[in-house]
Amino acid sequence: MEKLRSLLQHIDGQGYKTYKQLRGIYNFNAFQLTIDHVQGDPFALPSRISIQLSPEQHGLPAEFWQNRMSQTALEDYLGRAVHAAIRKTVKGRRGTGHSGEMKIAVNGQQILRRNAVLIDDNQLEARLLFALPGSGRSILAQEAAVMFFTELPQVVAAGLIWTQRSLTKMKQHIEQAEDQNALRNQLEQLNAVAFVADCSLLPRHSGVDDHPLTNGLAFKSPEELKCDVHLPHRGTISGMAVPQGITLIVGGGFHGKSTLLQALERGIYNHIPGDGRELVVTTVSAVKIRAEDHRKINQVDISPFIATLPGNRATKCFSTDNASGSTSQAANIIEALECDCKCLLIDEDTSATNFMIRDERMRKLVPDRQEPITPLLHRVRELYEKEGVSSIIVTGGSGEYLAVADRVIMMDNYQAFDVTEKARKLSGDKPSSEKERVPFRKFQQRQVDLTIKPLPRQREAKIQVREQRLLEYGQKKIDLSQVEQLLDAGQTETIGRLLAWCGKHDPQQTSGLIATLQQALDQVEQQGLDILLPWKAGHLAMPRFYELVAAANRLREKQ
Ligand code: ADP
Ligand code: MG
Repeated sequence: MEKLRSLLQHIDGQGYKTYKQLRGIYNFNAFQLTIDHVQGDPFALPSRISIQLSPEQHGLPAEFWQNRMSQTALEDYLGRAVHAAIRKTVKGRRGTGHSGEMKIAVNGQQILRRNAVLIDDNQLEARLLFALPGSGRSILAQEAAVMFFTELPQVVAAGLIWTQRSLTKMKQHIEQAEDQNALRNQLEQLNAVAFVADCSLLPRHSGVDDHPLTNGLAFKSPEELKCDVHLPHRGTISGMAVPQGITLIVGGGFHGKSTLLQALERGIYNHIPGDGRELVVTTVSAVKIRAEDHRKINQVDISPFIATLPGNRATKCFSTDNASGSTSQAANIIEALECDCKCLLIDEDTSATNFMIRDERMRKLVPDRQEPITPLLHRVRELYEKEGVSSIIVTGGSGEYLAVADRVIMMDNYQAFDVTEKARKLSGDKPSSEKERVPFRKFQQRQVDLTIKPLPRQREAKIQVREQRLLEYGQKKIDLSQVEQLLDAGQTETIGRLLAWCGKHDPQQTSGLIATLQQALDQVEQQGLDILLPWKAGHLAMPRFYELVAAANRLREKQ
């Protein structure tokens, strides 16, 4: 620590690049500081530092990280504690550009596995961005000294040192995450694909703010779908089990249908205490399916839904740079099945109508043989009965799906009612089709070129995330903006790194794209996110398998 202090005094006022001398390890009284990377100027991405604490220094009981799950929840909790401490103590602006900023990449309402905070039996480590202060291009050493010797120790004390402090909230954070996993693991036994506990709060603060809506109406299960579940920490809870099969969510406009579906979409993740969706869980493989005009499609067999296209284009191995609403939605389903998805989540708001339904009058006008599309309506039961894939479908405008539904939930003034019996009386016959049914799941093993090449005038190929879900991948681009269950820029970057990893280690993909990606993800699950980067950083977050594959499926050359 004294060495850092005198180094700083020595370089005060010198050119910003002289900061590079600070790289190294420093012993503070209560922790160890490592300066891993020093930025080139005050406008560049901030410097990277990391804090190490021994078990004696952090004082956390080892039983808090017994397994991967609790470890992730604990790391998340500590990251949030550091984040809060930074907000409280760090002044921020101390010169030009980013000067004075400190950041940790833990945020959002979900608990994701990250590499911002890592704990094991040997040490606790937190990784921060730390913008070294400068005035223009000269070093502001006194400002830096305040950051290192006043602010940083306070942040560490408040976020990472727990000797003789109450651990009640931390314990609760971990236990709630364990309960969510336990609940998700019980879905199968309940013959359910999702569960929404009574008293959950589903609506969000706004379309761009994922915090709970204040004064929202709490969820209450319809009697018919209500069941009790026992959780390891909370004990017995009750709520709505969404059964396997075809479930419709119906109701008037603005009555909370999409809000329920969106909560189910996010139910693949664990949520932090106070979110309102702590006990809203969905089976891990549930995939939101939507129309995605203009997306890239690469060698997908969409023939179960779309026979031939104008110009006699075959659809058994369909590729396009510019998909339509229906072809994109068909491809999204087939790709989800390829990833072993067991539950489709569909909202009419974001679907292609001609992919969803074809009504009798239209069939009289345009006979089946002229229409290449077999709508989902005609195949959704088969998907369940033959393939075991359930669907939860929001539909307010068309009654066609009533005939194929197992359950119908009506949202009325944000309250859920089971209207299955009434719907059955109204539904009429199951829709029939004269069309030949092309079987699902005949996937050809395919390869995608994942090699990453630098742009002209760049020395190295870069992986960069823009606006959370846009990935620049060397010369290529991946638009994940419609892949709605991808939540965090850290996940997007991890996906880019994983693809590059596969491109490098297994360019031939001898066992096919899907198996190659699965192996890479498994390896990261086992060895940690750090294996993806040659330097130490803390901004990566674990993606789900489906979103990783979704990225490979959308890879396209930069225009
Ligand atoms: P729908 O899909 O049925 O048209 P939405 O789910 O989009 O309706 O919800 C309409 C509005 O109602 C949204 O602004 C949403 O935040 C709000 N909302 C949804 N559920 C609740 C609730 N339980 N309490 C209060 N407001 C809610
Ligand atoms: Mg809606």
